[in-house]
Amino acid sequence: MTAQIIDGNAVADKLRLEIAAEAAAMVAQGLPKPGLATVLVGENPASQVYVRMKRKNCEEVGFDSFGHYLPENATQEEVETLVRGLNADPKVNGILVQLPLPAHLNEERVLSAISIEKDVDGFHPINIGRLAQKGRESLFVPCTPDGCIYLVEQTGFNLKGANAVVLGRSNIVGMPVALLLVKRDATVTICHSRSKDLPAICREADVLIAAVGRAEMVRGDWIKPGAVVIDVGINQVDDPTAKRGHRLVGDVCFNEAKEVAGWITPVPGGVGPMTRAMLLRNTLRAAKIQANR
Ligand code: NDP
Repeated sequence: MTAQIIDGNAVADKLRLEIAAEAAAMVAQGLPKPGLATVLVGENPASQVYVRMKRKNCEEVGFDSFGHYLPENATQEEVETLVRGLNADPKVNGILVQLPLPAHLNEERVLSAISIEKDVDGFHPINIGRLAQKGRESLFVPCTPDGCIYLVEQTGFNLKGANAVVLGRSNIVGMPVALLLVKRDATVTICHSRSKDLPAICREADVLIAAVGRAEMVRGDWIKPGAVVIDVGINQVDDPTAKRGHRLVGDVCFNEAKEVAGWITPVPGGVGPMTRAMLLRNTLRAAKIQANR
């Protein structure tokens, strides 16, 4: 069997076009453009790239983007004061604090300072808490997990009653994606670094979501034939044949897994572009909620 490739770039492009059309319609009605504020503390090169891409995506869909940069040694008070200022700014509909923050800052306190109505990254403890509760809905869902579910749903696969296995239990990906799967009535197994016999657990998965950050850890013979495989991992590996001497691979050995899976996301070009598209979708939603007030 050769899996169908889930093209995250194509899905994200389509979503971005829809978002741009909705933003244009809002402006045509006399409403302000949706606006996203990004907060970057320090000079982590990967974070700089992510923030730059997020701001560029905003411009592409007709949103305002407001970039805020604080030095590596910014104090807790300085970061929280900036966030509170953005909470009060009517031009800002969504606030994204780029993680990870420098180690001396208390991440939970910073995330808690964001107004839940502007929490477009979905990491405010109230939004995460609601995700974990039956019968409650978060205002916003974290973007990478939401993007994973969106990609599964693109395949037409019915999650209700399906066996889903999530590799990883981080606050950013593993745990929220597992909670989202439960909300969609999947039966979910969450694995982590202490889990035993991962290959056997994975072989039971109708849907396998890998978010561990271990290059090509999931082998072809871990995959149930026909399964939907969503690979969140982004790992750099040496490759002397590549122009830069390295290339990106996922947590799944793509070449082996594609021979067994029914559907699979590539790396790059799978979950990555969806993360940014979901951020735009959340920002649009925030703008609509705030415009209706
Ligand atoms: P973390 O390092 O925060 O979490 C990794 C998780 O994987 C932990 O729960 C850890 O277990 C588990 N784990 C690590 N090693 C193993 C192992 N050998 N077997 C089983 N479980 C293991 O990573 P993130 O969740 O932040 O990111 C995961 C991957 O996804 C990374 O490659 C990251 O770059 C990528 N990513 C991609 C995004 C995108 O947009 N495509 C966005 C965010 C992340 P334990 O809890 O026991 O330590």
